[in-house]
Amino acid sequence: MTTNYLTADAIKTVGVIGAGTMGAGIAQVAAQAGHPVILVDMNAEALERGIAGIRKALSRLAEKGKITAAAADEIGNRINPAQELSALADTQLVVEAIVEKLEVKQSVFAELETICSDTTILASNTSSISITSIASALKHPERFAGLHFFNPAPVMKLVEVIHGLATAGPVIDTLLELTKGWGKVAVAAKSSPGFIVNRVARPFYAEGMRLVEEGVAEPALVDALMRQSGGFRMGPFELTDLIGQDVNYAVTCSVFASYYNDPRFKPSLVQKELVDAGWLGRKSGRGFYRYE
Ligand code: NAD
Repeated sequence: MTTNYLTADAIKTVGVIGAGTMGAGIAQVAAQAGHPVILVDMNAEALERGIAGIRKALSRLAEKGKITAAAADEIGNRINPAQELSALADTQLVVEAIVEKLEVKQSVFAELETICSDTTILASNTSSISITSIASALKHPERFAGLHFFNPAPVMKLVEVIHGLATAGPVIDTLLELTKGWGKVAVAAKSSPGFIVNRVARPFYAEGMRLVEEGVAEPALVDALMRQSGGFRMGPFELTDLIGQDVNYAVTCSVFASYYNDPRFKPSLVQKELVDAGWLGRKSGRGFYRYE
């Protein structure tokens, strides 16, 4: 068993797996905090898109005067792209942000254990999968935790730091201190389906989709009402388009299954149809809305 847990100060190089919506954002956050970052995606195109997106986000910050142009360059240069997990050998923290599937995550972490040092803290950005279950595939489940950022990661303040049954207390302390140092509001929570925010948000999406399924209202009307009069930043349809319909659907299915098919969490056929069509939201150019 690992007993030598890294403190926040000891985390130098950060690895991020998955250069999609979340991984790119998390890589940017860590690089902005001064860490050298290795961003891994097995898909070369996704990797290129992720890096280009980060560069664009950084130049936008420079244009707005939030950072200098030189700082934008420096931060961008701190992020090194790679396609192989072996590039993560010299990292002290790895955050995984790949597809929301238990077996895929388990196999990635099992491989990471053969690549990284025994003390490297391994974390998943999963929205809903049990941290305890992912950890069950690991030799050192005590240094594994959930590190759940919100979309867009560079903007959203909250990070849920999730402990599974086997996670060591000092690992949670390190992740809390580290992400607070990154300017985030970090909150510790026990692993349970959907954790805190995604559990509370399930009915927000589900009831919106039921209204549409029942022909009560169109997505645009529901979104406008929630925004203009409900006090929400975004309505359920624009928000799921931002999250990714595939990701949101996978999270709903995972929470539904975890609660033994409790009808409260039943996935929506309207959303399933979008996923089947490949209308995944902003990232594919079309979801509930079109993005030209
Ligand atoms: P995404 O589809 O935008 O990106 C996933 C990326 O992972 C893709 O680029 C893909 O090529 C890559 N990938 C898949 N399998 C891989 C592997 N084995 N090795 C290396 N790269 C691999 O997904 P996303 O929206 O960024 O979600 C990623 C994770 O973050 C999921 O677990 C999701 O539940 C969670 N999450 C998503 C959001 C959101 O709003 N999208 C918010 C919080 C958490």
